[in-house]
Amino acid sequence: MGELANCPKCNGLFVQTQFRTVCDNCFKEEEKAYETVYQFLRKRENRKAELDVVVEATGVSKELILKFIRQGRIMLSNFPNLGYPCEKCGKTIREERLCNDCKNDIHKQLNQIEQEKAISDRNKEINQNATYYSQRPK
Ligand SMILES: [Zn+2]
Ligand SMILES: [Zn+2]
Repeated sequence: MGELANCPKCNGLFVQTQFRTVCDNCFKEEEKAYETVYQFLRKRENRKAELDVVVEATGVSKELILKFIRQGRIMLSNFPNLGYPCEKCGKTIREERLCNDCKNDIHKQLNQIEQEKAISDRNKEINQNATYYSQRPK
């Protein structure tokens, strides 16, 4: 069972379900757009098209095409030049959520945090030992 919601695209009321996140009209439009993109991409000469080219050729918005890619309706494995933006820097990527650079950055930051934690753990230990020794009965 769905519940009444406002369509995020046209603001019209519709019954929202797990599979239906926009109203009937917008859903039909999205399906039509998907069909357009699909027809374009299935042609052999278009397989290597980049996202901007697809946007221009089909008139479908970049956002919507990205949505199809995220939904897995456009399989990136078939289209070597398509991708979606890295969540951090916006560079075009084809797998996971971040590009390699951003992933490395995060690793570096994590390492730094770990190192800092290791140092502060060691300091704590030294302090504890110091307390322990100073509290030892004479
Ligand atoms: Zn709508
Ligand atoms: Zn990035």
